[in-house]
Amino acid sequence: MENIILDGKTTSKNIIEELKAKFEKEPTDKRLAIASAGDDYGSAVYCNMKKKKAEYIGIGCDVFHFEETVTQEELETKVRELNADDTYAGIMIQHPLPKHINEQNCFNLISPEKDVDGLSATSFGYIVQDRQLFAPATALGIMKLLKAYDINLVGEEVLMVGKSQIVGLPLAVMLMKAGATVTVAHSRTKDLAGMIKNYKIVIVAIGKPELVKAEWFTEGQIIVDAGYNEGNIGDVDHLAYEKASFYTPVPGGVGPMTIASLMSQTAEAIDIMKNNK
Ligand code: NAP
Repeated sequence: MENIILDGKTTSKNIIEELKAKFEKEPTDKRLAIASAGDDYGSAVYCNMKKKKAEYIGIGCDVFHFEETVTQEELETKVRELNADDTYAGIMIQHPLPKHINEQNCFNLISPEKDVDGLSATSFGYIVQDRQLFAPATALGIMKLLKAYDINLVGEEVLMVGKSQIVGLPLAVMLMKAGATVTVAHSRTKDLAGMIKNYKIVIVAIGKPELVKAEWFTEGQIIVDAGYNEGNIGDVDHLAYEKASFYTPVPGGVGPMTIASLMSQTAEAIDIMKNNK
C-alpha cells in the first residue's frame, strides 16, 4: 500500500518561491501588519516566522505587540488605524489574544479586503456565499495541500474533527463547497473512536496531543493533522501514519501551509490595492 507524506514543507516552499519571483519582478512598498498581545510564547514565535517569511518574499512586515494588560479599545483603535493606513495591504491579528479580550470583535473590525488571515465574520460569510475573498489561512493551507497531491474531494466522505471558528468550521464549509460530504465531530460527539474508520479522509484540529489513536483508523485512510502541541506533537497518534495512504507529518505538514496561505493572500491583497488605485 502507498504511504505518501503530504509534504507541507516542500509544497509551501514552492508557493513561497513563486511569490518571491513575483515581487522580484514587481517590487511593492505595501506592507503586512500583524497585531499581537500578551506573553503567549507560541504567538511570539509565529509572529516572527511570519515577519521573516514576508520579508523573504519582498513584502515589508510590522508587528505591533501589546502588553498582556491591553484593553479592547486599544486593540480596536489599532485595527481601525491600520484599516485607514494605505501603507498596509494586509492586516492580521495573532491568536490567542489575552483572555479578557473579545478576539472575534477584533477580527471583525478588519476591512474585508485587508483580512489576509480570513478570520472576520465577513470573510466567513463570503465563503458561505461563494464570493470568497480571503479564507482562514490554515483551512486554505489544507485545501491547497490536498489539491497539490490531487486528492479528490468530490463525492468523498470527509470527517472534520473540531469545529473552531479558526480551523474546523470554515474548513468544513470549504470542503462542502468543494463537493465533499462532510461530517463534523467535536467535544460532544459520542463515539469518535468508533466513527473514524468510516471516512476516506479524516482531518483533525482539536489541540489535544495524540488524542486520536492509531487503532481508531483502518488501512488506506487519508489523515490530515492540523494539531500543533508542545513538543512538536500533533492531535493524531503518529503511529496512525503507518496505516494511512496519505498523511501530514507534524511538524512539516499543515503548519508551513498556513504561513504560505497567509503570504499568498497578502500578495492578493496587494494586487487588490494596486488595481483599486
Ligand atoms: P480550539 O479553538 O481549541 O478548538 C478545538 C476544537 O476541537 C473544538 O471544536 C472542540 O469542540 C474540539 N475538541 C476538543 N476536544 C475534543 C475531543 N476530545 N474530541 C473531539 N473534539 C474535540 O482549537 P483550534 O484553534 O481550532 O486549534 C486546533 C489545533 O490546531 C491546535 O493544536 C492548534 O495548535 C492547531 N492549529 C494549528 C495551526 C497551524 O498553522 N498549524 C493553526 C491554527 C491551529 P467544541 O467545539 O465542542 O468545544
